[in-house]
Amino acid sequence: MRVIRCGGKTMAQGGISQVTNKEGSLFESTMERFDYAAQRLNLDPGLYRLLRCPNREITVYIPVMMDDGRLEVFIGYRVQHNIARGPCKGGIRYSPDVTLDEIKALAAWMTWKCAVVNIPFGGAKGGVICDPSKMSMSELERLTRRYTAELLDFIGPERDVPAPDLNTNEQVMAWIMDTYSMHARHTVNAAVTGKPVGLGGSRGRKEATGRGLTIIAKEAMQRFNLKLADSQVVIQGYGNVGSTTARLMHDEGCRIIAVSDIEGGIFNPDGIDIAKLDEHVSKHKSVTAYPDARAVGNEELLEIPCEILIPAATENQITTKNAGNIRTRILLEGANGPTSAGADPILEQKGVFVVPDILANAGGVTVSYFEWVQDRYGYFWREKDVNERLEEVMCNAFKDVYHYSQIHRESMRIASYMLAVDRVAYYTKIRGIYA
Ligand code: NAD
Repeated sequence: MRVIRCGGKTMAQGGISQVTNKEGSLFESTMERFDYAAQRLNLDPGLYRLLRCPNREITVYIPVMMDDGRLEVFIGYRVQHNIARGPCKGGIRYSPDVTLDEIKALAAWMTWKCAVVNIPFGGAKGGVICDPSKMSMSELERLTRRYTAELLDFIGPERDVPAPDLNTNEQVMAWIMDTYSMHARHTVNAAVTGKPVGLGGSRGRKEATGRGLTIIAKEAMQRFNLKLADSQVVIQGYGNVGSTTARLMHDEGCRIIAVSDIEGGIFNPDGIDIAKLDEHVSKHKSVTAYPDARAVGNEELLEIPCEILIPAATENQITTKNAGNIRTRILLEGANGPTSAGADPILEQKGVFVVPDILANAGGVTVSYFEWVQDRYGYFWREKDVNERLEEVMCNAFKDVYHYSQIHRESMRIASYMLAVDRVAYYTKIRGIYA
């Protein structure tokens, strides 16, 4: 067995081994899975070193005049992981917990995610360390515009196309588009995706990640000769992804038996009326205290027996500590990185069918791609067309990964990585290295 070294890490080549059973940071978890996929593909050591590193890590210091006259300086990042298959694509998150490590992991994820669903983008991710719940709209606007201005040389329709992520939304995208356009001296609506429809956004974009999850859930259930209708579903996180998935799956006839947000969860084994819950959430801003269900903690919620468990909140929710207690048939990863690398073998041993984030939640980036295409075309599709094309892309991707997993006798997670790394490595090799 040969061992190659990259950035202080080692990678065993030539032998087949499982991903090691450790928790690690988000970045470590991604890299461990990438390493294992690379090893299984017998990836050339040079290509391995190249694909393991991002293209660029940009740190910006963002001065913002606060409403009370104070000058605050925020830290923002944009990491561009890979451009072998096209411009970079990836969301921007605003959170006090943002770290460069996390942004690096999420940027690499985007590369693999775009490759899994076979859309012509590489991966990127951005983040600003801030607490948007404590900021006014005008402070957020100034923060967004200055962050965009700092990144002007690196972003744009042909370079890197941002999108919403945790705590960012259509409004933030509109500010980014406007700032970019003011500097370009003309409206460049393909500069971002996830914009309001009237500004060149795509119909169906808001629901795309949840719709993609629902399509994949149907495909996964079919593999077990089970029907999506009647299945019991548990969802952690009731934001954009979680609430849309709940609504669409409820429409498909699923029983949504438990949901949660950062404040806590609710559980009703007979099923929750999602339209009623949405009314409650729009009034109270949380799923908690919904009258027709009992309260559950976020940890307990993940252990409720069900057919489909959807972590759609944040990373590292299923770890070596609780993986043994998970009682679902299918784990459908709505969030990015909800399962640690150490939890993977435990879930596999329990027979949980894990549909990994880079496949399961790729509906959002797929419709972002459709949005970018429509903006550049200047011709906008009906929602029906968007949804049909999304279904085609997601079903094909699921079939590709499932096929790969059968051929290589690997989990869906490793098969997704293998397929993605194979595609990116292939086109990197064909393009060659510019020196
Ligand atoms: P969001 O901000 O709209 O919602 C997040 C939800 O999770 C909220 O209900 C919040 O209260 C809850 N939450 C946060 N921390 C929690 C915790 N520790 N325990 C329980 N609940 C918690 O964000 P979103 O857009 O729905 O994204 C959710 C996840 O999905 C993120 O990991 C994001 O990266 C990923 N994702 C989003 C999209 C998209 O299109 N929005 C696409 C792909 C992946």
